[in-house]
Amino acid sequence: MTKNIAVIRGDGIGPEIVDQALKVLDKIAELYRHTFNYTDVDMGGCAIDKWGDPLPEEMLQKCVESDSVLLGAVGGNKWNDVPGHMRPEKGLLRLRAGMGVYSNNRPAKIWPQLSDASPLKKSIVDQGIDFIIVRELIGGIYFGEHKTEEVDGVPTAVDILSYDEKEIERIGRIGFETARKRNKKLCSVEKSNVLDSSRLWKKVMHRLAEEYPDVELSDMLVDNCAMQIVKNPAQFDVVVTENMFGDILSDEASMITGSIGMIPSSSLGATTCGLYEPIHGSAPDIAGQDIANPVGTILSAAMMLRYSFDMAAEADAIEKAVSDYLDAGYRTADIMSKGMKKVGCSECGEIITGMIRK
Ligand code: NAD
Repeated sequence: MTKNIAVIRGDGIGPEIVDQALKVLDKIAELYRHTFNYTDVDMGGCAIDKWGDPLPEEMLQKCVESDSVLLGAVGGNKWNDVPGHMRPEKGLLRLRAGMGVYSNNRPAKIWPQLSDASPLKKSIVDQGIDFIIVRELIGGIYFGEHKTEEVDGVPTAVDILSYDEKEIERIGRIGFETARKRNKKLCSVEKSNVLDSSRLWKKVMHRLAEEYPDVELSDMLVDNCAMQIVKNPAQFDVVVTENMFGDILSDEASMITGSIGMIPSSSLGATTCGLYEPIHGSAPDIAGQDIANPVGTILSAAMMLRYSFDMAAEADAIEKAVSDYLDAGYRTADIMSKGMKKVGCSECGEIITGMIRK
C-alpha cells in the first residue's frame, strides 16, 4: 500500500521525537512492503519564524491532501509575547478546523513494566488498564454562546451547551467503530439525569447501537465515570463522551498512567485522514538534548496505521516492539528507575525499530 503522510516536526522536542517515529514507519514499510511518502509541513513557532504565520494556507493544504498527519508538538517561550492570533497553538487549532476533525481519541494504558509510575494502588493497576476516551472536539459548551451581562444589577455569566442529533451521531459512530477495532465494549458517558443535551445524546447512542450489534453499549453518568476511572479502570474499553466531559476525563485518565511521554492520540473526522500526535507539549526545558521520550509519538504512528490505514498487524508489531523495549529494561530519563538502562531519544528510536518483527 502507498500512503502519503504529512509530517509536522514543530518546535522544542518535536523534531527529535518525530524522527524516531519515522524510523519506525520506515521499518514497517520495509517489512510489510508498503510505501510511505513524507511531506514536510511547517507549523507552530518554526512557521512563524519562517513564514510569519503559524500555519500558512499552503501548509494546511498539504495536510488536507495527505492520507494522514503526524505531528510532534508546537510552542515555546520564544513565541510567548506574539499577538494571540499569531501564537503557535493557533496553528494547531486551524489545522484541526481545516482537517474537520471532530473527535479526539486518547488511550489510557498502563504498561505493566511501568506500573510503579501510576499513582493508583498496585491492586488496581494489576487488573490491567487499557482503554480509549473518544471525546467530541468541536461542539458543546466550548463552542456555544458565551456572555456576561448585568441581570437585575447582578453580573451574570451564561455559557450555552448545545448538541444536535447529527453532531452526536457522527461522534457516536467513531465510538462504535473504535470499539469494533478493540474489545467491542462502548461506554457512553453523559449527565442524562440533569441535562437535555445528555438525554438526546443517550437516545442517539442507543439508536446507533442497533447498527452495531457486535458492540456492547453501556451508559454511565459523568460523575460516576470520574470515580470509576480511579476505582475500577479495568472495566473500560472505549468511552465516548461530549467535549467538556471528555476534556476533564481524558486528563484524569492520562494522569493515572503516570508517564506523559508515553501517551499517543488521534483526532478524526468524516474521512480516514487523521491527525496523530503525542498528548504532551513541546517540552522546551529538555529540547535539543536528545533525552525526550519518543514513545508517545511512535505509538501515535501505530494509531495512524490502525485507525487510518487499516494496518492492524503493523500497528500490533510496533506496540509489541515498545513492550519488548520496556521488558529489556530500557528507559528514557522521564521514566528511569533503579536497575534500568538509561537511553536517549534517538537510541530509544533505534532500539524499538530494531525490535520490530513481522
Ligand atoms: P509539556 O507537555 O511540553 O511539558 C510538561 C513536562 O513534561 C515538562 O517537564 C517536560 O519536560 C515533560 N515532558 C513532556 N513531554 C515529554 C517527553 N516526550 N519526554 C520527556 N519529558 C516530557 O507542557 P508545557 O511545559 O506546559 O508546554 C510547553 C509548550 O508546549 C508550551 O508552549 C505549550 O503551549 C505547548 N503545548 C503544545 C501542545 C501541542 O503541540 N499539542 C500541547 C500542550 C502544550
